[in-house]
Amino acid sequence: MKKPNNKNIAIIGGGYSGLSAAHEFIKKGYTVQIYEAAPFLGGLASTFDIGEAQVEKFYHHLFLSDQHLIDLLKEFDLDQHIIWKNSSTSYFYDGKIYPFTTPLDLLKFSPVNLINRIRMGLLALYLQRVKKWEKYEKITAADYMKKYAGSQNYKIIWEPLLKGKFSDYYEDVSMSWLWSKFATRVASRDKTFQEQLGYIEGSWDILTNALAQYIINKGSTIHLQTRVTKIHVENNKVIGLDTVDSLGNTERQNFDVILSTIPTFYLPNLIEELPDDYKKRLTDIQYEGAIAAVWFLNKPLSNSYWMNISDPNIPFLLALEHTNLFNSDLYNGNHILYTADYVTQTDPRWQIDDENIINSYIPHLQKINPSFDRSWINKTYIHKERAAQPVVTLNYSEKIPNTKSPIDGLWLAAMSQVYPQDRGTNYSIGLGKKVAEDIINK
Ligand SMILES: Cc1cc2nc3c(=O)[nH]c(=O)nc-3n(C[C@H](O)[C@H](O)[C@H](O)COP(=O)(O)OP(=O)(O)OC[C@H]3O[C@@H](n4cnc5c(N)ncnc54)[C@H](O)[C@@H]3O)c2cc1C
Repeated sequence: MKKPNNKNIAIIGGGYSGLSAAHEFIKKGYTVQIYEAAPFLGGLASTFDIGEAQVEKFYHHLFLSDQHLIDLLKEFDLDQHIIWKNSSTSYFYDGKIYPFTTPLDLLKFSPVNLINRIRMGLLALYLQRVKKWEKYEKITAADYMKKYAGSQNYKIIWEPLLKGKFSDYYEDVSMSWLWSKFATRVASRDKTFQEQLGYIEGSWDILTNALAQYIINKGSTIHLQTRVTKIHVENNKVIGLDTVDSLGNTERQNFDVILSTIPTFYLPNLIEELPDDYKKRLTDIQYEGAIAAVWFLNKPLSNSYWMNISDPNIPFLLALEHTNLFNSDLYNGNHILYTADYVTQTDPRWQIDDENIINSYIPHLQKINPSFDRSWINKTYIHKERAAQPVVTLNYSEKIPNTKSPIDGLWLAAMSQVYPQDRGTNYSIGLGKKVAEDIINK
């Protein structure tokens, strides 16, 4: 490919995929224009201001295996901000919290009988070691677990987890998705087999800001609050795009390369000329939304970092206490709890206001810790995102749209193209970089 002239590469989306692609292009001597619909960068990993600090809207941590993310932090001399801690997991079942961190915890998990606990333990050990994931594309996680972990383990552990994460799609999810969870978690264990999780002291915001500064200092441009509304095509080649800003001003810009990092199902709304089979690939992949309540408490709810909730009457899958892993001094002594749920696009909570969601969750926090009451709450926030988790179905590798689209000059680096690993900032950074390299080397 001839080196594009300056300013003729557009990147749609200022999340980690778009920022990482921009970084790569700029390092190779190009300039880019980034268009981001929101008034901030960072996408799903963006943060909000709590006065004394920035905190992620949705809980975020690093795994030891997050090499792209760690390398990028090193490149900006920010790796000294990574804090690694021993993680702690628990399981809330039938009104009780069970520790779920070590193999011994699993052996003591009394809701499941001893034979099934041993069976699950052996299966977990096996899955953590498997490298060839391809065969897991052919079977759903539900069928696999029913068959190999047994119906009791499935009903008590796996079905609630799958339902919580994928709601109506829970029986469609491929075992390759669940395998990736085992693989990532084992890759984040130290020599003593203790899981280590990391956090960026100062939040993901410090990396987002470093990337933004780099992009601007090198002469590229970031357009915030600027939504791309149309991609123009002539003779099967992109020629430019239309944008609208927060004041309703519209603009047309010419480009000969456009990299889209937005959720794949949005793209057909921007471009009419996509061939039907490619369009179908983009829209066939479903996304779950996420709704997270963030609670600033004056006491911790529990002593674990990550609590899976296995109770169909509790309206969230996860109670994650950020400050059980990372120091609450960073947040003026506040204990930060995320209660998060993954939801379909028709979930009634999209229409419910924040205060009512918070009020409806309070009795459920009391189920987890009966002494919890309103006086513990210093502040609450609700964050909602419609495209939070692609639904990984059977034979997913055959369904992923190509990063190079059938329209000349139009490329994609979207979260639903991360596979077989589950989505994460590390993988968006890797994907953005790889697609930028592919565009340059084409
Ligand atoms: C609840 C939750 C927990 C998570 N936990 C972790 C974790 O612990 N660790 C981790 O590494 N990752 C975690 N992730 C995942 C991680 O945040 C994502 O994988 C990553 O941020 C995705 O980046 P992206 O750039 O691919 O997509 P996005 O962040 O979705 O970026 C896409 C951007 O495109 C913009 N956009 C959309 N349409 C338009 C348009 N028409 N014009 C212009 N801009 C547009 C959006 O506003 C957005 O900023 C979590 C995600 C969620 C939801």
